[in-house]
Amino acid sequence: GKWVSGSEMQVDHICFAYEEEMILKDVSLQVPFGKTIGLYGRSGCGKSTLLKLLMRFWDVEQGKILLGDVDVKKINTKALRQKQSYMTQETHLFHDTLFENIRIAKADATAEEVIAACKKAHIHEHICSLPKGYDTMASELGDSLSGGEKQRIGLARAFLHDAPLLFLDEPTSNLDSLNEAKILLALAQDEQKRSVVLVSHRASTMKLADTIINVEKGWKPCEQ
Ligand code: ATP
Ligand code: MG
Repeated sequence: GKWVSGSEMQVDHICFAYEEEMILKDVSLQVPFGKTIGLYGRSGCGKSTLLKLLMRFWDVEQGKILLGDVDVKKINTKALRQKQSYMTQETHLFHDTLFENIRIAKADATAEEVIAACKKAHIHEHICSLPKGYDTMASELGDSLSGGEKQRIGLARAFLHDAPLLFLDEPTSNLDSLNEAKILLALAQDEQKRSVVLVSHRASTMKLADTIINVEKGWKPCEQ
């Protein structure tokens, strides 16, 4: 079969260990296209690991991850990454301007597209308030960028990439509730366009999810 955009993602009885200790034991779940799945559970239970397996940072030892009816092991990682936007738990900025730090998510993006993504992530105004705006070097900011500002830069990258699969790892942990609400609204607006896997400890963020999975209770959906 061929990977079709708009198809379901399926995790089918997977097992995974980094070293001896099994982190994921017989985990199964489905992400129907256009739906948002929320994952929560204590630190270290394997939430970020699952996102990384979905992106083939590593391959599963047992079981399968399928996009439509295609095993992700059969999709080359470059093609796979184009279908997947990923916002990591920690946003890293490299030695370049803020503009280029965001455009890294889509090499051929125009200035308009970068700005639109920043507006959606509610970081545009802050960038414009800096003396050099988008031309500010990340290194000039040093520690003056707050955790929430960095996180919104991470979100702007994910929005700019605009892939059919979106993986968000604690996207709102450093945001105040007003910014969180704005971001969640932006995400909800084009919900049907993509599937989202959302990892979060915050109940307010989990409201966005169609299905919430409690990782500690055997990766089962909870009643809502
Ligand atoms: P948190 O809520 O703190 O982000 P998490 O649920 O995302 O936690 P993971 O990052 O998936 O947890 O980690 C699951 C387990 O795997 C942890 O015990 C962690 O120490 C371990 N682990 C994570 N990454 C690696 C790695 N690259 N090599 C070895 N062990 C790892
Ligand atoms: Mg994590």
